[in-house]
Amino acid sequence: MAATRMEGRPLAERIRAAVAEEVRSLGRVGLTTVLVGDDPASDVYIRLKQKAATEAGIDAQDLRLPATTSEDELLERVAALNADGDVDALLVQLPLPEGIDEARVIRAVDPAKDVDGFHPLNAGELYLGRPILVPATPIGVMALLEEYRIPLDGAEAVVIGRSDIVGKPMAHLLMQANATVTICHSHTRDLAEHTLEADVLVVATGRAALVTPDMVKTGSTVVDVGMNRTDAGLVGDVDPGAADIAAYLTPVPGGVGPMTIACLLQNAVRCARFRRGKIAFPDTGNSGNVPRAPSSDGGS
Ligand code: NAP
Repeated sequence: MAATRMEGRPLAERIRAAVAEEVRSLGRVGLTTVLVGDDPASDVYIRLKQKAATEAGIDAQDLRLPATTSEDELLERVAALNADGDVDALLVQLPLPEGIDEARVIRAVDPAKDVDGFHPLNAGELYLGRPILVPATPIGVMALLEEYRIPLDGAEAVVIGRSDIVGKPMAHLLMQANATVTICHSHTRDLAEHTLEADVLVVATGRAALVTPDMVKTGSTVVDVGMNRTDAGLVGDVDPGAADIAAYLTPVPGGVGPMTIACLLQNAVRCARFRRGKIAFPDTGNSGNVPRAPSSDGGS
C-alpha cells in the first residue's frame, strides 16, 4: 500500500491564517528581508517570503543591496535595522557573496529580531533545550509530524544532514521530543545501516534521490526536506519509490516547503510579540548586541 502523503499545504494555510489573525490583533508586524547580490535562487526565496508575509498582513520590506556591498557596509545596515523601531523581524538571506563573513553577520542581528533563528544565542538556547526562535524548516517538520500524529517518544529518528539551518536544529527538536536521534552526514560509513533502523527519517542533503526505497524501513515515516532543481523539475532527496515501503512520506513539492514559509511568518509574529512585551525574551545579562527589555511602544 502506498504511503500516506504528508501534505504541507493545508497545514501551512491554517498556520498562515492564524498568523494573519495575530498580525491583526498586534496592529502591525514589520519584517525586513535583506538580500545582497543577485543570486537567482535567493531571489526566488525572498520573493516567496515577501509575498507570503504581505498576504498575512505583515509589513514586509525588501532591502536589496548590490553584490559589491562590503562586510562593513552590511554590518552598518544590520545595526541600523536592529535600532529601527519599525522592524520587528530581520532576515539576511544566505548565502552571502564571497568575502562577507556570514557568521559575523548572523551574530550582528539582534537575537530578538532573528526571525531565522540562526543567531548563536538562539541556536544555543535550542541546544540547551530552551527554544526561543528556531529555524523555520525544522519547526515546520515538527508541526507536520504532529499533524499526522507520528509518535516520537522513544522512536528511532535518523536525520541525514547536519547543517546549522536544517539538520542540527532538526536533531535537537527530535531529541527534545524524546526520540533517540542519529545524525548522518557525508562521512557516515554506511547510510543504509542507519536509515533501515529509522522509525522517523528526515533527509536534508541536497542530493537528489540519495535515499532509495531499499534504504527505508517498512512502515516508517520519511520526511524529505530536499529541494533539487533537475531537468525533471523539482525533486527531493528521497526516491518517490519509498512510498511503497514507508507508511508516511512528504511529497516534493508540497511537503516541507510550504511549512517553512508558514513557520517563518510565525517566527516574525513571535519577534513582534517579544518587542511588544507580550512574551519575555530571555535576559542575557550582556550589554552588547542583545535584545532590549520589552519596549514601551504599545501593549496591544
Ligand atoms: P547543506 O548546508 O548543503 O547541508 C547538506 C548536508 O547533507 C551536510 O550536512 C552534508 O554532510 C550532508 N550530505 C551531503 N551529501 C551527503 C551524502 N551523500 N550522504 C550523507 N550526507 C550528505 O544543505 P541544507 O541547507 O541543510 O539543505 C539541505 C537540502 O534541503 C537542500 O536540498 C535544500 O535546498 C533543502 N532545503 C529545503 C527547505 C524547504 O523548505 N523544503 C529549507 C531548507 C533547505 P557534511 O556536513 O558532511 O558536508
